[in-house]
Amino acid sequence: MGSRKRARRWGFILAAAGLLFFGLSKVTAFPEKEVSKPSGAPADTKPAAAAGGKPQGKVVYLTFDDGPSEWTGEFLDVLKQNNIKATFFMQGSNLKRANLQDQVRRAVREGNYVGGHSMTHQYKKLYDEKQFVPEMKQTLSLIRQITGENPHLVRPPYGSAPGLNDKRLRDQIVQAEIKVWDWTIDSNDWNLKNRPSEIVENIKKQTKADLEVVLMHEKPQTLQVLPEIIDFYKQKGYKFAVYDETKHFHLNFMKDHRL
Ligand SMILES: [Zn+2]
Repeated sequence: MGSRKRARRWGFILAAAGLLFFGLSKVTAFPEKEVSKPSGAPADTKPAAAAGGKPQGKVVYLTFDDGPSEWTGEFLDVLKQNNIKATFFMQGSNLKRANLQDQVRRAVREGNYVGGHSMTHQYKKLYDEKQFVPEMKQTLSLIRQITGENPHLVRPPYGSAPGLNDKRLRDQIVQAEIKVWDWTIDSNDWNLKNRPSEIVENIKKQTKADLEVVLMHEKPQTLQVLPEIIDFYKQKGYKFAVYDETKHFHLNFMKDHRL
């Protein structure tokens, strides 16, 4: 009887030590991930791969296309000031510019996600000539070379519809283990060079769901109103999230659940 009791006590001590170790390793290894976790989400005690799916509660993903650019650093400054992380979709021709690569590394170092946005950004090449997968592979490989990260998510230039209508093209994407994200809100910012307040209005009037993914670009007019956009979502009670490959959910106009 005494030995059984002792065994039980040892079991308890080991379990407590294990929990303590697990808790400490999480806190020290991923201090930044906690910031973007939606409120009300259960404590993350399961393996990350099993916890996939959409986040709970009001969550917004800010996304910026077409970088890196001469403004990337200033975008990162605003994000950092607000303790927010964002998702960038960068373009191969810009990633090749050596003077911009430090900011790509900085984006990753500060907890942002950097995904691919093709090499050429040309509709004809990507969709008519079916160069989508080769171009995305090349772009993702460039990001890997620059940052050491190994991203799988891309944003299709002009969106997945109608470009990825052809199922064979989508089969190729699945085979290459590439994931595709469109958006839920189009800010139309690239087209509003001298009308930045309209960018804010576009976003405000389209914000309706608990989960929103906002399409923006690395443009000066966007940078100008970014603090206002962040304030809007804060006031509306949204948490800011950054794309996480271990918690992927599909978000594409083609409604292809494999992507
Ligand atoms: Zn683009």
